[in-house]
Amino acid sequence: MSLIVQKFGGSSVANPERIKKVAERIIEYKDAGHQVITVVSAMGDSTDDLIELANQLNARPSAREMDMLLSTGEQVSISLLAMAIQAKGYPVISLTGPQAGIRTNSSHGKAKILNVQTDRLEQELANGKIIIVAGFQGISDKNEITTLGRGGSDTTAVALAAALNANVCEIYTDVDGVYTSDPRIVPKAAKLSVISYDEMLELASLGAAVLQPRAVEFAKLNNVKLHVRSSFNHNEGTIVREVEDMEKDMVVSGVACDHNVTKIALFDVPDKPGIAYQLFDALAQENINVDMIIQSHERENRNDFSFTVGRDDKARAVEIANQVADAIGARGVAYDDTVAKVSIVGAGMKTNPGVAAKMFEVLYRLNINIQMISTSEIKVSCVVDDESADRAVVALHTAFGLDQLEQ
Ligand code: ADP
Ligand code: ASP
Ligand code: MG
Repeated sequence: MSLIVQKFGGSSVANPERIKKVAERIIEYKDAGHQVITVVSAMGDSTDDLIELANQLNARPSAREMDMLLSTGEQVSISLLAMAIQAKGYPVISLTGPQAGIRTNSSHGKAKILNVQTDRLEQELANGKIIIVAGFQGISDKNEITTLGRGGSDTTAVALAAALNANVCEIYTDVDGVYTSDPRIVPKAAKLSVISYDEMLELASLGAAVLQPRAVEFAKLNNVKLHVRSSFNHNEGTIVREVEDMEKDMVVSGVACDHNVTKIALFDVPDKPGIAYQLFDALAQENINVDMIIQSHERENRNDFSFTVGRDDKARAVEIANQVADAIGARGVAYDDTVAKVSIVGAGMKTNPGVAAKMFEVLYRLNINIQMISTSEIKVSCVVDDESADRAVVALHTAFGLDQLEQ
């Protein structure tokens, strides 16, 4: 008998018909003699609907109350799924994140899982129950409900799989697996049968919504094998696992795009030690993730800083940038959220020079201006204007030979 942890995303439980299908799928595993723990997201777009509701009452609600609200979405879907399984005569129990023993830090809205207290889960499994767990939520040591950031149900599933040493963690979604690019933007995108943790982590961090980056990081750390697949058919999906360098034959294995980007710039900053520390420490104290950072060439003891943050953090980040600009004597602050980040990812880049130049050529031929660039060993990212981003993704997919992959 093996233990399987599965996660079904919002589109997989969007309505009663879909919930019944998920129930049938879970029962297939139970009938085959497996123990099953299923993590579910909120139904359809209901998390977005809850955020919209909150914004009608308060433009900047506290993160604590937001977590109280958003955690209800998953509570609806776990109970309905458990009822659908009960209706078929199978023993089942739904558990909230706190009931499932998911302990997090206190960082509301982007909490990190610290550990999973597995006693209750083990007890319910021993009683022969199918367990349905609310994704995306946990409890802090201050006894507060927390949420794990958008897409956080993926991380819940991986954390449970790691804590209980499950044989596999299946991530069911509305596409057949991980593709060379978002199939909604690039019709010629092809499904990858295998992808390494490192490449998947880059793709996810750079905007490929199919997995939450933290889930991939957690899976890599704990060596949890992920199988990303569709809840709408029984096709084999994509396996995310450790891949030997020798097995890698593609220079670029994916193109990603992130529209959740705001660019913030500080002008005429005094050029002396400690300035970058003051700015980025102030942002870190507010728990704001900064992505790209550029410091311009020094001129007359002044230079400019630009950096990017997620759009959710824009208001607070601009506020902090203004405070720091005043404190350090910078001339001013500007921001722009009509930008997006386009990236190419591939482990083969390490040994193939000229990949970045080729990306820049593709953007030049499309007459797209590059506003910021960042690179790592296995990725190149460019910030461009939002409206040009999808065009860039399609062209890069073609230029790096990904249109030709077997489907
Ligand atoms: P779920 O509700 O199941 O968590 P998400 O919407 O979070 O689903 O993630 C699935 C979506 O991710 C797909 O519908 C697809 O449009 C998008 N996506 C972006 N990049 C990729 C990629 N490289 N491969 C597959 N899907 C991707
Ligand atoms: N419901 C949450 C969200 O929409 C968590 C998830 O779906 O993974 O982000
Ligand atoms: Mg998701």
